[in-house]
Amino acid sequence: MSNSTAQSQKFALAIHGGAGTILKESMTPELESAYKQKLKDALNAGYSVLKSGGSSLDAVEVAVKVLEDSPLFNAGKGSVFTAEGTNEMDASIMEGKTLKAGSVAGVTTIKNPISAARAVMEKSPHVMMTGKGAEKFAAEQKLEIVSPEYFFDSLRYKQWQKIKETEKIQLDHSEDRGDVKPSFDVEFNPNPDSKFGTVGAVALDINGNLAAATSTGGMTNKKFGRIGDSPIIGAGCYANNKTCAVSCTGHGEFFIRSVVAYDISALMEYKNLMLQQAAETVIDKKLTELGGTGGVIAVDAQGNIAMPFNTPGMYRGVVKENGEVEVSIYK
Ligand code: ASP
Repeated sequence: MSNSTAQSQKFALAIHGGAGTILKESMTPELESAYKQKLKDALNAGYSVLKSGGSSLDAVEVAVKVLEDSPLFNAGKGSVFTAEGTNEMDASIMEGKTLKAGSVAGVTTIKNPISAARAVMEKSPHVMMTGKGAEKFAAEQKLEIVSPEYFFDSLRYKQWQKIKETEKIQLDHSEDRGDVKPSFDVEFNPNPDSKFGTVGAVALDINGNLAAATSTGGMTNKKFGRIGDSPIIGAGCYANNKTCAVSCTGHGEFFIRSVVAYDISALMEYKNLMLQQAAETVIDKKLTELGGTGGVIAVDAQGNIAMPFNTPGMYRGVVKENGEVEVSIYK
């Protein structure tokens, strides 16, 4: 009975596979359908959790895991290469009910960084762990540990080979928006063969709880232990039952400086903006004026979804309560 009451409540799920996409003219029908299929798989995985009354936290974790396990996206397997030729991943998760959060940064052997972030949140007194320490903790938590070669992907390797002798760090994005110029040290990937995609998920469950998750390999040729926005709570990920859940993708340095995820929540909490208006204010105005590129997916406590981005595209998808999935790439 309690179940039938619960089932009448709203639930919602949205995911992204990175902002900035392959140019439409370079996209092949095969590749496009592979991306769309994987986005659908992730949505379906999260949907089964929510439909059966599971938590938004479980839903965002399973959805992100599907994308981490696919070499198509820049997270988990298929993560981009650092200047040292390694794959260093970052991930974060947050629960809107308790404001509990967890994240890992610069990890190289944890098969699913998002699960490690969740373990940090649930099984430790901390919020953020990095590198070897995070890997040791993940092993103690019996999470799957793999050899660094597991993350190797030949296309990512080629992306890195093209720029490794330079000082460039490369966003996993295909091209400039035109009116927003990237800063001098960042090259927008002009290679039509490139693959893209930090990943993320946001969800509302039937109990009214929100959650957000983000996972990435960061930027190609990054060095000196560079960490982006993805594992930083408030920058690349945020959830608060009072307002919304947000997962970001884009040029991390700008997302950190703009505190994007929390700023959307704050506009709702303190200025009473609606979700769409808050998300657009931060992406189309604040981030864009600063010169940052990227986008967000966000869901509010009523199940409304907003997905603004200022790049030519963003891999993204939503699933409706009847199980119908909608995935898109371009504007
Ligand atoms: N935000 C990620 C980072 O800067 C990259 C991305 O979203 O593509 O590490």
